[in-house]
Amino acid sequence: MWVSLHTVLKVPVVVRPVTASQALLSWATVTRADVDHYTAVDMQLYTKITIALILGVVAGLLANILDIDPLTRLLVSIEPIGTAWIRLITMVVVPLVFASLIVGTASLGDITKLGRIGSKTIVYYMATTAIAVTIGLLLSNLVQPGARMSPEGLEALRSNYMAEGASRVELAQDAPALIDVLLNMIPRNPVAALAAGDMLPIIFFAIFLGAAISALPMERRDHIVGFFDGLNEACMVMIHWIMKLAPYAVFALIGAVIARFGLDVLSSLLVYVVAVLIGLALHVAITYSLALKFLARRNPLAFFRKIRGVQLIAFSTSSSNATLPLTMETAEDELGIEKEVSSFVLPLGATINMDGTALYQAVATMFIAQVLIGDISLTVQLGIVLTATLASIGAAGVPSAGIIILVVVLEGVLAGSGIDPAAGIALILGVDRILDMCRTAVNVTGDLTAAAVIERSEYEHALRGGGAR
Ligand code: ASP
Repeated sequence: MWVSLHTVLKVPVVVRPVTASQALLSWATVTRADVDHYTAVDMQLYTKITIALILGVVAGLLANILDIDPLTRLLVSIEPIGTAWIRLITMVVVPLVFASLIVGTASLGDITKLGRIGSKTIVYYMATTAIAVTIGLLLSNLVQPGARMSPEGLEALRSNYMAEGASRVELAQDAPALIDVLLNMIPRNPVAALAAGDMLPIIFFAIFLGAAISALPMERRDHIVGFFDGLNEACMVMIHWIMKLAPYAVFALIGAVIARFGLDVLSSLLVYVVAVLIGLALHVAITYSLALKFLARRNPLAFFRKIRGVQLIAFSTSSSNATLPLTMETAEDELGIEKEVSSFVLPLGATINMDGTALYQAVATMFIAQVLIGDISLTVQLGIVLTATLASIGAAGVPSAGIIILVVVLEGVLAGSGIDPAAGIALILGVDRILDMCRTAVNVTGDLTAAAVIERSEYEHALRGGGAR
């Protein structure tokens, strides 16, 4: 019997053919009797996480609006529970990505297939990111969020966040140049890359090793692949265990964020926040739905329903990297995407594909420029499309990465105006965490959509006689 993470806590139980590892997974999770028990008295994990999220928001709002100091202190003091959980799930990322990529690559059987999947993935990622930035720009021109700020609101933001803004600019200065990013993809020492959790060099080495393993004689190959397959499945079991704690972590994370979050900031930046949110919603509703319908040939609504858990976790953790184990599990078990595609497309996506971040960068840049320098020419806007697309590739899948990389985009736009990027960052820092949560949910949705699109195109390639799938 096969029981996925998501089916453990809900009906109906999905029964699929057994593999040894799947049997292990089901053993490690529940028996059929347990499932019946769960379905009678327990809620779906997804529902539990949603409730935790709502409770966290309500508790945080109560503490914030009514200024209940002990509640704020309590919420802030339990935040480490959430942080511990993020560390737990992040702990699985490196072994999971490494093992799963090796298994995925080694079982491709044909190295040209890897090149094909790789180039399709990169083109798709760049295209959807450029569309996201364009949506952000169109919206900013339409809504003009920066033109609606009151001078008092502006002054308050500037004085509150200027120092923090400057520290973000300093962090951005440490970001490596593009050529170094490319060179750094080739690890001098793969063990050091694994130890440091540097995703691109890990991906590079795992693919290289996987390709070499696929060139070995069958007995040798099966031995190594069997080992990594086992490691991969053990990671899935760990994810399953860790996910049981997710509702508590979500409550702890959200409660503290909302308790600290000043609602006054929200009111002065409301138009900007709403513009980003509408942009993100449009990107999901239009770009991803069309891609799913016409490229992946899947029902978008059914697809989004299956990935709700991943979106919630991305939202709560603000980190594509921390969400990656669940993203991979969901792709394989819930969406039925083949490992050879998901093991490559998803870790790469968590690292380089950030549509939500790119869209946010476009709106944020336009907002800051509208406030600080007035109107922005079309040429500068085209520059924003390019830099925001590239900058989002450079953003790591961790909380707040987007705002640090935003400095790079801002420097281009504000160049020659004599305005310090820190002044721009100071304007929007107060609402960054909330937007980070939303853009991260879009980032992971984009990665999963890409996996479905690439898998479909591989399938069609095979149908046209392009070799085994
Ligand atoms: N937190 C985002 C992510 O992990 C990156 C960002 O800050 O936009 O996907």
